[in-house]
Amino acid sequence: MVANAIQSSVHMTTDPTYQTALQQYDRAVTHLKLPEGLVEFMKWPRRELSVNFPVKMDDGSIRVFSGYRVHHSTVLGPTKGGIRYSAHVNLDEVRALAMWMTWKCALVNLPYGGAKGGVVVEPKSLSLGELASLTRRFTSELILLIGPNVDIPAPDMGTNAQTMAWMMDTYSMTVGYSVPAVVTGKPVNIGGSLGREEATGRGTIVCMLEALRHKGITSSPKDISVVVQGFGNVGSFAAQRAYDLGFKVVAVSDVTGGYYNPHGLNIPAMREYTNRSPRRTLEGYKGDCDQITNAELLELPCDVLIPAAMEGQIRGDNASRIKAHLIVEGANGPTTPEADDILDDRGIMVVPDILANAGGVTVSYFEWVQGLQEYFWDEDEVYRRLERILVRAYESVVSTQEQYGVNLRNAAQITAINRVAQATITRGIYP
Ligand code: NAD
Repeated sequence: MVANAIQSSVHMTTDPTYQTALQQYDRAVTHLKLPEGLVEFMKWPRRELSVNFPVKMDDGSIRVFSGYRVHHSTVLGPTKGGIRYSAHVNLDEVRALAMWMTWKCALVNLPYGGAKGGVVVEPKSLSLGELASLTRRFTSELILLIGPNVDIPAPDMGTNAQTMAWMMDTYSMTVGYSVPAVVTGKPVNIGGSLGREEATGRGTIVCMLEALRHKGITSSPKDISVVVQGFGNVGSFAAQRAYDLGFKVVAVSDVTGGYYNPHGLNIPAMREYTNRSPRRTLEGYKGDCDQITNAELLELPCDVLIPAAMEGQIRGDNASRIKAHLIVEGANGPTTPEADDILDDRGIMVVPDILANAGGVTVSYFEWVQGLQEYFWDEDEVYRRLERILVRAYESVVSTQEQYGVNLRNAAQITAINRVAQATITRGIYP
């Protein structure tokens, strides 16, 4: 009865990201012979917190912000997931992202459940001081839910290492002693891990290499063209890593538009440009390239497309025009289920988000482990362990794909959901 009520209310969601996450789940569980109640239990968030809180702005005025934290699953361990600052954040989007974190952690065998949080704010419209006040007040609103053994936030869109430093400091001031392991993605000088900043983008390229190998593509990297949408934490490091390995990165984009050169872009120069630009965008970049729109960028002829900006970019209305042979999802939820079907029919392989961007949470886990042990690894060790975990996860997805005869997205979801299901069965239903 209760389950039916939850189901009908959530089915009424109009949020396309949550619709995508729920549909992907429904598709995957049909392949697993699990008890109906278990299927229902794993689908919905364990707990959710919505807060409205005031922040004093630089001009003395008070603005009220809304924020959310959702714990989707606590079956495999404490919850883990990023905090997003964006004007578009809403509770359903956070629910979707928390659910994907559950599957992602399970897929790479991390001892975590999934969580996500967000504040409805355009971070670029706030001064540094206002951002600090907002972050500190939001952290104090979340204090009931977070902790190094309970729920460990990390950066996501619109947040970064500085945001995590403010969160860690606020939590530590409240409990009275320093607790570096309450967040990951911190600056290295307060207990962050080497390699965390570039981990997601680097992991995306590890998955791209695995996918090329599985597809039997043996061309030299310089003959393989790569397009990257989004030039933030994930996109810029993915583009840089591909460039460093000798791939021809022919186009990148950010919120200001796309930049294209069929002979290859100078990615280090573009990264330097964004690092110097006040809003950290590519706007006004005058290198050797043509300006295109984000819509044009997605449809460019290329070997590999890496959507690394946001959700819902490859949809029913543009999937038939995608010309890439391989899509590696740096972002969460960039492809809708309708687009998945079209890409499947067209033989375009998609390495799904919960695998292709799991590098971030994997190195977050390394950071948490290093923090708890107070023993820190060098960068080579971080990268070596990261690669081993991602390659192993990729292999497990391929083996599920062969077993069930499904695409990589279904295979990744089936693998992850089954791990959470088996752990739930082993733990039993309380009481
Ligand atoms: P970010 O804020 O650092 O960068 C986002 C980038 O996307 C920016 O370059 C921005 O200009 C661009 N962008 C925004 N709107 C756009 C639009 N309409 N068209 C094209 N580009 C646009 O965020 P991020 O941390 O790089 O996250 C990107 C995606 O990766 C998100 O889906 C996030 O959930 C996912 N992700 C991030 C991490 C991480 O460690 N940061 C880990 C896993 C997944």
